[in-house]
Amino acid sequence: MQRAEPQDFSRVLSSMCTEPHAIAHDAAVRFLASNPGDPGTYETVARLERDAIESLGEIAGLPDAAGYIASGGTEANIQAVRIARNRAETRTPNVVAPASAHFSFHKAADVLRVELRTAPLEEYRANLEAVSELIDEDTVCVVGVAGTTEYGRVDPIPELAELAVDAGALCHVDAAWGGFVLPFTEHAWNFSDAEIHTMTIDPHKLGRAAVPAGGLLVREPELLDELAIETPYLESTSQMTLTGTRSGAGVASAAAVMSELWPAGYEAQYRTARSNAEYLRDEFEARGYDVVEPVLPIVSVELSDGLIDGLRDAGWRLSRTGAGEARIVCMPHVTRPMLAAFLSDIDRLS
Ligand SMILES: *Cc1c(COP(=O)(O)O)cnc(C)c1O
Repeated sequence: MQRAEPQDFSRVLSSMCTEPHAIAHDAAVRFLASNPGDPGTYETVARLERDAIESLGEIAGLPDAAGYIASGGTEANIQAVRIARNRAETRTPNVVAPASAHFSFHKAADVLRVELRTAPLEEYRANLEAVSELIDEDTVCVVGVAGTTEYGRVDPIPELAELAVDAGALCHVDAAWGGFVLPFTEHAWNFSDAEIHTMTIDPHKLGRAAVPAGGLLVREPELLDELAIETPYLESTSQMTLTGTRSGAGVASAAAVMSELWPAGYEAQYRTARSNAEYLRDEFEARGYDVVEPVLPIVSVELSDGLIDGLRDAGWRLSRTGAGEARIVCMPHVTRPMLAAFLSDIDRLS
């Protein structure tokens, strides 16, 4: 039987993930047979997890950060909602999020039996008035997105945090994708910019770690107590993760790649992505297409259904926004020659 080969990245345009950095790849392979879910037995990977959290804290403006490396942004978002729900007194908790919030919040609401209230947007960002109208005495968490999945927009995080504090709720920032580009922009998004309590920031997206490596950060370690479960048969006495056995490959790769790339490597990666996004926007506009301005390096553009189908048939991995635009995420594997080839296919097919 022929050996299966994984998807290569040469025509992947819409993924939030990318090829792991060589250093992440190496660390992932070396730590494949380790389980940070059992830190008493797998001590080295447990130490690497603490290093990874410290690095994520530096990136997100939180010295002495607490948190853990999760299976991804979905787990981190579920856990943030779980913290907020468990610390509140109400028996009918709700979470208020902008309509742009990732679908993982719907999973969180379902699993945790919390009501999710989504507020309409204004110019692709959370509308503060709409958010404020949905908040009441049962609100346990207000969510802001720092780098939306479809358009790369950043919500007004300090203002959302103020609304949360006024309501006695927690403020959670979802920077799963944006967290590794935002430090090089002017946006106010992190723990030093605003009174936020928890954050999702994923090394396995723009951080270039191997999958699975998501990140959950909390401002005060006590917030993690809301997640603690006793673990009778392990040497350690309690566990805060949603998963039990989990990937040491993800943890080790995240620690290694952040120590290598933060900050200069990530900044260079951001500058390249930014300039690729601007190039693509200019090229689309020169051809008369409507482009949603790329605030972070995601370009959404109105292409006809027929053209998108033709591009997919030509092998381009292209997804669409809920509103139907084609969506190009300028990840590290998306190079200028690749974009030029994509544009020439557009010229040929249109
Ligand atoms: C990708 C993403 C998630 C989900 O993360 P997974 O790692 O796919 O579980 C959550 N929020 C945002 C903003 C994302 O871009």
